[in-house]
Amino acid sequence: MSVVRPMMNRDSQFFWDGTAVGELRIPKCNACGALRFPPGPACQSCEAYDRGYQVAAGTGTVYSYVVHRHPPVPGKELPIVIAIIDLDEGVRMVGEVVGPAAEEIEIGTRLRIDYHRIDDDLTLPVWRTDS
Ligand SMILES: [Zn+2]
Repeated sequence: MSVVRPMMNRDSQFFWDGTAVGELRIPKCNACGALRFPPGPACQSCEAYDRGYQVAAGTGTVYSYVVHRHPPVPGKELPIVIAIIDLDEGVRMVGEVVGPAAEEIEIGTRLRIDYHRIDDDLTLPVWRTDS
C-alpha cells in the first residue's frame, strides 16, 4: 500500500514508537508539565529542553474539519475527512477521520482514536466517531 509517509526525526520518533504499540503520546515538558503539539525541541512555555510525554486517553472532540474531495492524494481513496481535534487532555491535533460515519461529523462530534498499521515502521493514528 502506498501512503504519504509522515516526517520522522529525533523529535517525533517517540510519537511513532507510541502509535506502533497503540499509544497516543502527547509531548510533555518535564520542567513545567505543559502539553503541546506539534513536537519541537524546546518547551513553548518555559523553553526547557527536558521533554517527555504523556499517553493520552485517545478521545476528543471535533474543533474543525474539512472534507477533501479534490485533488487526488497518493494512496488515498477520496473523500478523506481531516479534522482538528481537541483532545480531552486540552491539546489540539490534526487527524484523519475514517469509517462509515466520517463524512457526517460536525463540530463537537466525539471521536476515538484507532491505529492503522501500514508496516513495521509506520502505524498511522486515525479517528472514528465514538458511538
Ligand atoms: Zn516547559
